Amino acid sequence: MSERLLKGIGVSAGIAVGPAVVVRWTMPEVPHRVVPRSQVEKEVRRLRAAVRDVKRYLQELKTKAEDRAGVDEARIFDAQLLMLEDKQFLSGVADLIRENRLTAEKAFEFKALEVRDMWTATGSPRLKDRLADFSGVAIRVIEHLMHRGADELWEGITQPSVVVAKELGPGLTVQLDREHVVGLVSEEGTRTSHAAILAHSIGIPAVFGVAGAMQRIEQGTTLVMDGTRGTVLLNPTAPEIAEARARERRRRELASQLEEVVEQPAVTTDGVRIRLRGNVDLPDEIRAAQEHRAEGVGLLRTEFLITSHTALPTEDEQAEYFRRVGEAFAGHPVVVRTYDLGGDKLPGPFRVQAEGNPQLGWRAIRVCLDRPEIFRTQLRAALRAAVHADIHVMIPLVTRLDEVDRTRALVSEEAANLARDGVEAKASLPVGVMVETPAAAVMADRLAAVSDFLSVGTNDLTQYTLVVDRGNARLADRFNPHDPSVLRLLKLVADAARAAGKPASVCGEMASEPLLAFLLIGLGYETLSVAPPALPLVKWTVRQVGAARARAAAEQALAARTADEVLDLLRLALAEAVDLKLLDPDARLPAGRRAASLNV
Ligand code: PEP
Ligand code: MG
Repeated sequence: MSERLLKGIGVSAGIAVGPAVVVRWTMPEVPHRVVPRSQVEKEVRRLRAAVRDVKRYLQELKTKAEDRAGVDEARIFDAQLLMLEDKQFLSGVADLIRENRLTAEKAFEFKALEVRDMWTATGSPRLKDRLADFSGVAIRVIEHLMHRGADELWEGITQPSVVVAKELGPGLTVQLDREHVVGLVSEEGTRTSHAAILAHSIGIPAVFGVAGAMQRIEQGTTLVMDGTRGTVLLNPTAPEIAEARARERRRRELASQLEEVVEQPAVTTDGVRIRLRGNVDLPDEIRAAQEHRAEGVGLLRTEFLITSHTALPTEDEQAEYFRRVGEAFAGHPVVVRTYDLGGDKLPGPFRVQAEGNPQLGWRAIRVCLDRPEIFRTQLRAALRAAVHADIHVMIPLVTRLDEVDRTRALVSEEAANLARDGVEAKASLPVGVMVETPAAAVMADRLAAVSDFLSVGTNDLTQYTLVVDRGNARLADRFNPHDPSVLRLLKLVADAARAAGKPASVCGEMASEPLLAFLLIGLGYETLSVAPPALPLVKWTVRQVGAARARAAAEQALAARTADEVLDLLRLALAEAVDLKLLDPDARLPAGRRAASLNV
């Protein structure tokens, strides 16, 4: 089967079965033709008319996208419209026409290829994502100038098919008719491509980034594509098709249950209220967290404020951002994690000599305390935003008590400075510790005493406990936050916080995995901060299980010998309450240990 299975990135969930329609959607062949000098201005006018017509057409697509995908998604077309309003680009095309007596389509093609090459050469993933948008517009203008309709490509599709292309732009995607196009496969593109965003909103399953798809998939080949797993299976057997259809039925069943769960509280079957917050890395995740009713933000990463800009963000910019996030979750806390810079994430102002071991080097709170002027600016911004929202701050990679003491001292000093300067700001705010090193976990009782809350970063805690580089794909199967050693530390932290009467939560990725969220509840965590897309599934799981059962499972997990054993026993425990296949289509219960009540 492996030679029939292609892998890519699942960018829009769902499973589709159908024949492949392979579209070779490329720049049309534009004949090289030189026009008489007397016709040059006519070509320039043709160019302007084509640009105007295509702009009108894009406006129509935008309206269509508003109906089909939503007002925000429709803004995707603004990017394409802007490309056609780029004066520099258009005057470049006109110059080419005039200087070389080219036809409008040839000149446009030259200029478009030049831009494409330039964007490709930058190597920027963001620009690469936008290339599909750009090509879509360029092709449309050229086709228009050549009096050819780009849409004719789609008219040949008469039965439910899976479209396979090298690259898909949003213009094409928004026009797809779900009756005829049941799935999308493309060689290029990522989760953040505009075509992916639209496919997701319209509800067409899609797998992008499938290397070699155009070469391996022939016209008419039957495909089973899975937009959740990111796979494309060629020439499936009848049992494989039946299995895929069953999987799709389960997915839909779960999806409709998840929709219902959004407005309901996260309460276990035995009445324990769990707080589910969202992790926000980039501003565009705020919306997903809101839509899924996150009860605040348990981890607001702030590194993007620096890494995506050339200069350090000002106090005003940060205060404004923190306030905006805070106001988006009114009535709930927003936990601002102070800069977690280090390793390869050291922008210009911090750059020092390369370190031999950056993960053990000058990182996070160490950088902030050594560069107090930068840290003070961030703390001032948080204190100012705290007037308008429930802002907390949390410091990453703590290994020593004095890091908390020094941070607290800086917070007090800056609060005093702001008051002295007459700037509207809070006099104090809660300061929490990220427990993400074994040192912090072991010292959790002492850290709880000097801080206002603890939040466990299981990504780093796993890395430093198991000595497994979290970014090393080769070690991926050793990166197990559910390893009994990590669980012991998690238990230590939960118990220490409870004894000190301070709140403890988990904000590492572990909390976004339903099975492991169940375990965390059992270990005593009643606040979890989760990646926004995972919120409904985690909440749904919480509502199916009892905290007492979770506690019993956690006890067993703490006594387990290996991470695999932990997973096995969690699956068994959860299967008493949940149809495991709904949660994880690949879930397998340990052989010979199926409980009688299993619904799998
Ligand atoms: C963690 O380490 O678990 C964490 C949440 O922080 P980050 O992933 O940003 O290092
Ligand atoms: Mg971390």
